[in-house]
Amino acid sequence: MPLKLICSKADLAINGAVPAFSEPLHVGRPNIGDRGAFMQRVSQVLDSQWLTNNGPMVTEFERCIADHLGVKHCVAMCNGTIALEIAIRALRLEGEVIVPSWTFVATAHALYWQGITPIFADIDPTTHNIDPLAVRRMITPRTSGIIGVHLWGRAAPIEELQAIADEHGVKLLFDAAHAFGSTHGGKMIGGFGMCEVLSFHATKSFNTFEGGAVVTNDDELAETIRLMRNFGFAGYDNVIHPGTNGKMIEMCAIMGLTNLESHADVVACNARNHAAYAEALAGIPGISLLTYGSVERNSHHYIVVEVDNDCRVDRDQIVIALHAENILARKYFWPGTHAMKPYRDLFPHARLMLPNTEQVAKKVIVLPNGTTLSNSEIRTISDVIGACVN
Ligand SMILES: *Cc1c(COP(=O)(O)O)cnc(C)c1O
Repeated sequence: MPLKLICSKADLAINGAVPAFSEPLHVGRPNIGDRGAFMQRVSQVLDSQWLTNNGPMVTEFERCIADHLGVKHCVAMCNGTIALEIAIRALRLEGEVIVPSWTFVATAHALYWQGITPIFADIDPTTHNIDPLAVRRMITPRTSGIIGVHLWGRAAPIEELQAIADEHGVKLLFDAAHAFGSTHGGKMIGGFGMCEVLSFHATKSFNTFEGGAVVTNDDELAETIRLMRNFGFAGYDNVIHPGTNGKMIEMCAIMGLTNLESHADVVACNARNHAAYAEALAGIPGISLLTYGSVERNSHHYIVVEVDNDCRVDRDQIVIALHAENILARKYFWPGTHAMKPYRDLFPHARLMLPNTEQVAKKVIVLPNGTTLSNSEIRTISDVIGACVN
């Protein structure tokens, strides 16, 4: 199909061309497993009349996830943010906790919501993961912990962060919301640090509609987190701990059980899409596609393009061109958590310590992916970028 190219807001207004796609092509379209298998489980749940409160489906889901990741405990939750908040509280973090700014805002919010100050550390501009040297610079006597984020499903520098945590006697946990099914040193993400936190939000590679979990090998921590998830109840009429409501419902658990059966297919499909993007985008000057290598597993869920400084057009122009064609690409995490209002007000000069974050935030575009994306759609998306740049 010939593309009518639109490269600025002004063009958009006067052009009014027919977009390349009649329906919007979103980033983060959900991967939905076998409908029949799901519907059968829906009937089971409705027949059982057990809808929530640690039902049999949640229990089975937790066992499946723990087995899949090779960890001792999985505590399923209503979403990843509450899972993070409960993990942070169970670890008794306080004062200051070091996090990357280059992540979804929930990483910092989970701390700030509980009166803990998130301290933003800069990233490695090639992996987009937190830089251990930057973490060292941000340690103070008030530091109680570090949250590493496995950005785009690629493991954070786990050993380096663990060494810093041990040296300073602070706690290390991971926001593994992007990293379900990823590996580090051949080992599944899930068992590193004191615990790892997963998100099963609809936009992630593996979803339970909404959902999340804390996974850990620490028995005592898992027990505390279980109590906190359910108002501190240790059986009928027996509240022994402060707590909240972080429970996962049975309907979410069956979505997870169903999607787990096809997650390997989702990953294989994403990997093929990633390779197809690499081929279609190759040779467009100033456009680089992030790749994850073949040594470690990655869900290939995130198709991340960087618009280099010497590119003939800037990132925002390309995003406008894509949106005009109904390709709803995203400037993920822009402008960086440190530059979002609550944190900008808190730390007006944070950007001075975050030059790599500031650079990367200006360059990134995340493109559509998932099982419903076709090869010809990938070519069209890449052609729109190519035509805009050329
Ligand atoms: C999605 C996400 C979260 C939050 O998870 P929810 O399930 O949406 O609450 C936290 N951190 C990162 C890095 C995420 O991508």
